Amino acid sequence: MTSADLTGDSSTGAKLLNTARDVIPGGVNSATRLVGAPYVLTDASGAYVTDADGRRYLDYHAAFGAILLGHHAPEVDDAVRRAVGDGIDLAGWGVTEPEIELARLVVETIPSAEQMISAMSGSEAVAQAVRLARAITDRPLILKFQGGFHGWQDAVARNVISAPDRAYGRDPLSRGILEDAIESTVIAEFNDLDSVRELYERHPERIAAVILEPIPHNVGALVPEAAFLAGLRAITSEQGSLLIFDEVITGFRHALGGYQQVSGVRPDLTTFGKAMGNGYPIAGLAGPRTLMERFSSAGGDVLLAGTFNGNPVSSSAAIATITYLREHPDFYERTHALGDRIRTGLGAITEELGIPAVAAGFGGVFALYFTEGPIRGYRDLLRDNDEAYVAFHRRMTDRGFLMLPLALKRNHISAAHTEDDIDRTLEAARDVLRGIR
Ligand code: PLP
Repeated sequence: MTSADLTGDSSTGAKLLNTARDVIPGGVNSATRLVGAPYVLTDASGAYVTDADGRRYLDYHAAFGAILLGHHAPEVDDAVRRAVGDGIDLAGWGVTEPEIELARLVVETIPSAEQMISAMSGSEAVAQAVRLARAITDRPLILKFQGGFHGWQDAVARNVISAPDRAYGRDPLSRGILEDAIESTVIAEFNDLDSVRELYERHPERIAAVILEPIPHNVGALVPEAAFLAGLRAITSEQGSLLIFDEVITGFRHALGGYQQVSGVRPDLTTFGKAMGNGYPIAGLAGPRTLMERFSSAGGDVLLAGTFNGNPVSSSAAIATITYLREHPDFYERTHALGDRIRTGLGAITEELGIPAVAAGFGGVFALYFTEGPIRGYRDLLRDNDEAYVAFHRRMTDRGFLMLPLALKRNHISAAHTEDDIDRTLEAARDVLRGIR
């Protein structure tokens, strides 16, 4: 990741970032948080964020998808204030009422869930899912897809946005990962069941689980073909592996019951996080009782530990978010309609301007690829024109529209976005695209 060049930048944000760089490696606490201005956000409300220099942005970044109801949704913040006021700030002994209520809500909401465990981040939830799958099957390998991201844990930290010469090959996200861990994850192509079957042939009875984002949103939006998810369900069952849906992005965002509700395909295990707490740190893993009872809290043999697991303040935020979604089913209609509006609009503009592009996505998530369609799998994204996206992204930011920075990423519409916001975005996009034609 290249760092922002602050030479000659006298803005308040640049000064703050300089100070940060002294005491935080690179100045930020997660690798993909810094690609250019704005460097420091100081205020967020509804669909908007404001930076340290007072510039306001319409926010599609949504804290990498952690915001679903808009920034500081009053229902969620009030619940958090109440939880803090209650004085229970740590689930240090036994269980707290918010943890019980959250698990109850998740079990009612996610079709394949009978029990859930709580975590503070999606990476932790995925790590638990992977370990549980290995324990249940007594097999070592995890099959993931090129382009899927499942957090920073060793077991899955490879082959996300890979360069053409490293795609499908050995492409760990970090140094410091044991070779055994890298080799224990095998890579298939999304929407390509043959690539999955081939790995099963190559590694008979060695694959513990197939893990996937049902829509790989970490490369924008590859939408699964119906036969693909159903096929994965059939293959994993037949082969004695578990199917893990990583719904850390799709969960609660695309439907109350996640993409498994949309597709009708039931995974064995589901991970979720991000939007479920509308900005507060919370994640979870859910599945059927028979599998979940392998956790040590139920007398099983898979370690479940974590000081902050089930934190009542975060649990309260998630309860408030899920309750809002249950009480406002029109949320999904609205965000899906706004998503359709921006995808259709971007598609029409690029077509009119003769720019090869695909406005992809699902529900309230949209991504603009600068390439000819159709886009089925990661292979199709290798043709994507990164330079055009970087120019589009920078110019949209300059005009006050905050979008996800990486070339292949998605944008999020929240409950706070309006039709007018979408139309203003399209107007700006038309101008910007005209300039990079
Ligand atoms: N799974 C998916 C699909 C994600 O997008 C992410 C984060 O972006 C994770 C897991 C990891 O979640 P966290 O960043 O909360 O650890």
